[in-house]
Amino acid sequence: MNNLFDVNDQVIVITGGAGVLGSDLARALYGLGAKIAILDLNEIAGDELVVELHKKPGQAISLKTNILEEDSIAAAADEVVNRFGRIDCLINAGGGNHPKATTGPDLSFFDVPKEAFQFVSDLNLLGTVLPSQVIGKIIAKQESGIILNISSMNAFRPLTRIPAYSAAKAAVSNFTQWLAVHLAQEYSPKIRVNAIAPGFFLTNQNRFLLTDEKTGELTTRGKQIIDHTPQGRFGDPEDLIGTVVWLLSPASIFITGVVVPVDGGFSAFSGV
Ligand code: NAD
Repeated sequence: MNNLFDVNDQVIVITGGAGVLGSDLARALYGLGAKIAILDLNEIAGDELVVELHKKPGQAISLKTNILEEDSIAAAADEVVNRFGRIDCLINAGGGNHPKATTGPDLSFFDVPKEAFQFVSDLNLLGTVLPSQVIGKIIAKQESGIILNISSMNAFRPLTRIPAYSAAKAAVSNFTQWLAVHLAQEYSPKIRVNAIAPGFFLTNQNRFLLTDEKTGELTTRGKQIIDHTPQGRFGDPEDLIGTVVWLLSPASIFITGVVVPVDGGFSAFSGV
């Protein structure tokens, strides 16, 4: 039982690790003894996080990485292997939406620029696929390891206003299942691929949709979300930790290809 939820000494790469959700996962996993590599485009935030982590004993590195460029991911992966000798887990936490791909009174769906749609689609889908190719290859050679993707509520049923993000996250869930089967069948049954689908967490990506910029009060959309969440609140990034530790540890050894909602009941509620 003692080893069931053990992530001590695991080498865990977190793309988007300097973001709100990724950094909270990094803090928690570092605290549990994992060796952490933050791969994020925002080098300053990544470096600051590592300085913060190193105030407690442990090992962490920050590597400026663009998850949309294979060379950049490969260079970072090489550094991680040089430093820590292997990669046990990849958490694909890089992703997000873009205001120009969000419909509303000022932007009809018919006028969403192709570039904005493509940006969101690429960031979430390709930004999951490319690290899974580059780092997945290392994991395949090792014949064991875990890939954990971040999907969304939008993957089950799309939310209004965010067509690109919804479609991209549905693709991330689908890809999670595909990759789980592929890696287990073609490389090793000891490789597992799962995803979490967080509900609504107040972060930079959605703050402008859920709260009023000036007053900080909930917008109509923010209120609708709370009303549709049986637990009656937004999630706290720390609410993800238990599920992530479970999916990265031997406790979930026979689980691959699943997308676990962490949503306060949002996806279970019909609205009536
Ligand atoms: P965030 O914006 O705080 O973090 C995203 C991080 O990704 C940032 O640090 C950013 O610098 C990095 N990034 C962006 N483009 C990059 C690129 N090309 N290469 C490397 N790094 C890049 O967002 P978050 O809320 O922490 O979200 C993390 C993940 O969780 C995303 O996939 C998001 O879609 C998903 N998610 C968030 C919520 C929520 O409520 N916040 C809900 C469901 C899913």
